[in-house]
Amino acid sequence: MAEIRIEKLRHSYMANPQTDDDFALKRLSLTWQDGGAYALLGPSGCGKTTLLNLISGLLVPTEGTISFNGRDVSRASPEERNIAQVFQFPVIYDTMTVYDNLAFPLRNRGVAEAEIRTRVTEIAEMLELTKTLNNRASGLTADGKQKISLGRGLVRSDVNVIMFDEPLTVIDPHLKWQLRSKLKELHLRTRRTMIYVTHDQTEALTFADQVVVMNLGEVVQAATPVELFEKPQHTFVGHFIGSPGMNVLPCEVRGGKAHFGGEVLSVGNGEAATGKGRTEIGVRPEFVTIAGDGMEADVVRVSDAGRFRIVETKVKGHTVKLLVKEGDAVPEGRTRLAFDPSHTHIYEDGWMAGSRS
Ligand code: ATP
Repeated sequence: MAEIRIEKLRHSYMANPQTDDDFALKRLSLTWQDGGAYALLGPSGCGKTTLLNLISGLLVPTEGTISFNGRDVSRASPEERNIAQVFQFPVIYDTMTVYDNLAFPLRNRGVAEAEIRTRVTEIAEMLELTKTLNNRASGLTADGKQKISLGRGLVRSDVNVIMFDEPLTVIDPHLKWQLRSKLKELHLRTRRTMIYVTHDQTEALTFADQVVVMNLGEVVQAATPVELFEKPQHTFVGHFIGSPGMNVLPCEVRGGKAHFGGEVLSVGNGEAATGKGRTEIGVRPEFVTIAGDGMEADVVRVSDAGRFRIVETKVKGHTVKLLVKEGDAVPEGRTRLAFDPSHTHIYEDGWMAGSRS
């Protein structure tokens, strides 16, 4: 397994890229530790597949380097990079048995049959495929086939990294959570370096120790799920992660405080704010509460989200959402709201003030 270091990586599909807009991947530097569980999360078109193909060697970067354990592999072939990949759609041989499918990557590399038996038995046990080992793969359901694909990714012990590209796309919704937790368990058991690519926040947050959030060809934040929730570095992260996303309200900044609609609000990062550019405050619905001495708000809608109610209000003409726990009183008509200062932040041109200094 390998530490993966990406430095000043840029990629354009054009022959002569000129401006930032010509780059599918604008700039990217990050390090993935050996044995870590990482997710690449972002909306369609943000550059996830481009980055994956640069790491696996299907694309050569326009600029920058990728190294595995200190060795520059930016121009090495996919074979030299020694990566296992699991794709959206299961890649298996229908006419072979489950055992032979799992053994295939090892036989391809001339591994001895005794060693193959040990590895295949171990992987089949982890994936709960032991009983089906002698069955033909053709008879399996989509999730059974995808389990074989996962197994083929995991069976080799000599790969540098295992990359999963939206692996749960074809899985029935009610089985998704089972495979999702299985993948997490497999990482904990095998401690391989794993990169999981998805546009689904639940998949990313349940699988990864660190989630790399991308937008428009750039990394907007690389952090733990808790950090992404508590300190979104960009309003995009605040919107994209969380359900509902973060409230973002226009404000003015004076003396380290946010001024919003005539109210003065204490915030977690007031000292770092310069007041330049487009200034906004961001606060997640989880950190908005009903408070007798708070800002006036009008309730416009209440929706049920299982253990919570989502209460949508208007404050000075702006939408502010808050969560009310099941069983707690839901406000009606006119109410008053307060924002938890340590979880309320000033954003300048989209970025949390102080997060990039
Ligand atoms: P999705 O989740 O839809 O696969 P993504 O996040 O993987 O999206 P990419 O497929 O990497 O995003 O695309 C990033 C940008 O590069 C997009 O603007 C896309 O149109 C462009 N792009 C991707 N592949 C090519 C290509 N072969 N030639 C030209 N432009 C491309």
